[in-house]
Amino acid sequence: MSHVMNTYARLPVTFTHGEGAWLWDTDGKRYLDALSGIAVNTLGHAHPRFTAALAEQIGKLIHCSNVYQVAGQESLADKLCGLSGMQEVFFSNSGCEANEAAIKLARMYGHKQGIESPSIIVMEKAFHGRTLATLSATGNRKVQAGFEPLVTGFVRVPYNDLDAVRQVAQHNRSVVAVLVEPIQGEGGIRTLDIEYLKQLRQLCNEQNWLLMLDEVQCGIGRTGKWFAFQHTGILPDVMTLAKGLGSGVPVGACLAAGKATGTFQPGNHGSTFGGNPLACTAGLTTLNIIEQDKLMAHAEALGQFIRAGFAAALQGVNGVKEIRGQGLMIGVELDKPCGDLVKLALAQGLLINVTADSVIRLLPPLVMSQGEAQQMLDILCPLIKEFMHS
Ligand SMILES: *Cc1c(COP(=O)(O)O)cnc(C)c1O
Repeated sequence: MSHVMNTYARLPVTFTHGEGAWLWDTDGKRYLDALSGIAVNTLGHAHPRFTAALAEQIGKLIHCSNVYQVAGQESLADKLCGLSGMQEVFFSNSGCEANEAAIKLARMYGHKQGIESPSIIVMEKAFHGRTLATLSATGNRKVQAGFEPLVTGFVRVPYNDLDAVRQVAQHNRSVVAVLVEPIQGEGGIRTLDIEYLKQLRQLCNEQNWLLMLDEVQCGIGRTGKWFAFQHTGILPDVMTLAKGLGSGVPVGACLAAGKATGTFQPGNHGSTFGGNPLACTAGLTTLNIIEQDKLMAHAEALGQFIRAGFAAALQGVNGVKEIRGQGLMIGVELDKPCGDLVKLALAQGLLINVTADSVIRLLPPLVMSQGEAQQMLDILCPLIKEFMHS
């Protein structure tokens, strides 16, 4: 019997090592990784320059407390702000913690304006994490059920529906912020309209609300830009990052700009591990390699190649509803639950994911080659066809 707490329905496979977009299991079988540990392994596995940078840092200093100056944090914060246009960064260890920081920041921002019970607008089908505040902000009953009482102070509206947000603005004087994913990941690779995001920015300005973007899954080059909001020309007040930032080393970040800056003062928020020298080296090296190897342009082009490949191979297949996404954040929606495809693909040496019951989700590492993407299509498309005909 396993002594690991039973929180995941795990697939019966154990990996021992990897290289690039490939993983090997304990039997020596090779798998093409089209999931990257859910958008985490930005640089694939065992990237030589990344590994060398981490090894060097481990030999010098892994951790020192946030009661001291941490040079790596300064460098990574500088880099993130330079790339995003944001102004200051709080470092955490994960996405939910980055969102906790954002939620706390929004509440404190409200309190400073005399709003005693501030609330935050969140979206249907949103996913923001598994801590109590972030599961309360999440728009999925399965994530919340059994954990009531939920954290209060969230107002839910449909995704991509500006009128719904305007309605709340008219009736609810306690709102201080909107928290939204530019592309919903767990919710099924659903993208906000550019026009919606521009008008939401405008509305947040008019209402003096913080626009808070959860880019935990869609950030760090995956969509072909550093951050998904950069497809729109707007700047958020708060942005959260995690998954892909450390290429597998846990690191999260909550960034603030404009009216959100300066909200936290010493004592308001903290983390023991957050932003330690190892995590910051992982973040900084990931960003540098994305830049040096032009991986964003590659993500954009490869994403188009993969979507075009699906469109050609699945043309006319009954029940294939939509092929969508941006860059290397790709969803194929079917008209029936398709969780079984994950096991079928695994048997054929391909790692994929299914989310929102009926959406095949692909989040390959940014280093996947076009040849490997073709191999992925060659395995997956026949599986989908067979599955839809059965
Ligand atoms: C994964 C995810 C989170 C939670 O991140 P953890 O590191 O698992 O806490 C939050 N928001 C989004 C959009 C995510 O995809």
